[in-house]
Amino acid sequence: MITIANYIGGQLIAPQAGKYLDNYNPAIGKVYSLCPDSDAQDVELAYQAAKSAFKGWSETPVEKRSRILLTIADKIEQQLHQFAEAESIDQGKPYWLAKNGEIPRAISNIRFFATAAEHFASEAHPMGNHAINYTTRNPIGVVACISPWNLPLYLFTWKIAPALAAGNCVVAKPSEITPMTAYLLSQVCIDSGLPPGVLNIVHGLGTKVGSTLSGHPHIKALSFTGGTKTGAEIARVAAPMFKKLSLELGGKNANIIFADCDFDKMLAETVRSSFLNQGEICLCGSRIFVERPIYQKFKDAFVNKVKADLLVGNPLDPKTQTGAIASKMHYEKVLSYIDLAKQEGGTILCGGEAIMLEGEFAEGWYIAPTVIEGLPYNCRTNQEEIFGPVVTITPFDTETEVLEMANSTEYGLASILWTENLSRAHQMAGNLKCGIVWINCWLLRDLRTPFGGVKSSGVGREGGWEAMRFFTEPKNICIKL
Ligand code: NDP
Repeated sequence: MITIANYIGGQLIAPQAGKYLDNYNPAIGKVYSLCPDSDAQDVELAYQAAKSAFKGWSETPVEKRSRILLTIADKIEQQLHQFAEAESIDQGKPYWLAKNGEIPRAISNIRFFATAAEHFASEAHPMGNHAINYTTRNPIGVVACISPWNLPLYLFTWKIAPALAAGNCVVAKPSEITPMTAYLLSQVCIDSGLPPGVLNIVHGLGTKVGSTLSGHPHIKALSFTGGTKTGAEIARVAAPMFKKLSLELGGKNANIIFADCDFDKMLAETVRSSFLNQGEICLCGSRIFVERPIYQKFKDAFVNKVKADLLVGNPLDPKTQTGAIASKMHYEKVLSYIDLAKQEGGTILCGGEAIMLEGEFAEGWYIAPTVIEGLPYNCRTNQEEIFGPVVTITPFDTETEVLEMANSTEYGLASILWTENLSRAHQMAGNLKCGIVWINCWLLRDLRTPFGGVKSSGVGREGGWEAMRFFTEPKNICIKL
């Protein structure tokens, strides 16, 4: 049984109170490691370590900071198999997905911001020939990063990399459901020569570690990815302290398919955008709207493909397309939404139930990819975030009608559009109330672009200069000539 340690002041240490939480392998439904159940004492220790490290790190030449971060990325790459296997066992996702998608993306996140820091420049605003303004962008100090369980290392590095590259010191909390790759990262940071205290990783519950971070009077910025309710709670605690907040929250994304789309491309990508990572990606298109002339054709082809392609099984088996659901609590939540969909009058076209595998996997948490039709757009199933392998399909007749349905939820993270009509694509993209629109593709990511949502999907943007600006404080200096 592995016992995970906190990473504080450059050392791997046990939680002060000596308490641990069970960490489950969702593929077998059993405890396989212990995660620190840290509390306010551990956060304070981490804060003090970060505070002591700040002067040295913020004054370290950017080239050197960049080199250390690049070394961290290289070392993760050298251990790609170990990281991917750990992520798969901890989270339930297929190993191939962690190896080809998530861990490489975590490496890219670190490389991207390590090099971005070297190119980060600020503006000057000359006022004719009588004055000049120039703006400096300085690191904030000690910042906090809190991340969820669905893409553990990917989302963790997406936050800590810009924070560190910009010269801040970080106290970070990964989800206690998936702490393993952040723990492996601690050792990599030690091996890469990251100075002690620059990054501190405190494992434990959101209600203890997370809330202490959001309520900490001297942590002046907090970047959070997770559920909308948690985001609201963090904002309630942190806003009166005037903390800078970046909140990346839930989604209930529309996938809008017009009859003129490239059907085969759309079909393959829609299977992916519906069910990749067991549908546990905030960007998945969980509400599929299909123009009526191709509704029946789409429905038949989609359901057949989901049944034929999405083998549910042991996440470490290369044939597996759909792994286990990350936690028992989440597994029960997803199943309860399938029940709700039935009560609301939905027809289950495929899936709709838990899957019992055999042998050592008999107690794992598996749910068959589920497609539901016949639900009104404004019912709870179509309005609330399920965050699992469950999608609904709904026909539409006009652009106005589908826009109204697509924009009807409290969320506004991403949308997907399938059409070969360029004018329609532009018009629809302009009218969708969300932060990201993919046209004839999904999850095609350029790390320079602003990433985030509107409405209850969040506040602020990550990615590129947005993240570097979030983790720095601008100061304008005006000189009279
Ligand atoms: P949660 O909001 O439950 O948790 C996210 C993180 O916040 C965890 O580390 C959690 O700790 C911590 N936390 C919980 N309560 C508090 C608190 N009171 N104060 C501070 N921190 C707290 O989300 P999930 O982990 O369940 O992740 C799924 C959600 O994340 C979905 O809603 C999904 O849409 C969203 N998400 C959004 C993305 C985006 O970019 N917009 C990307 C990916 C996911 P603990 O694990 O102990 O609960």
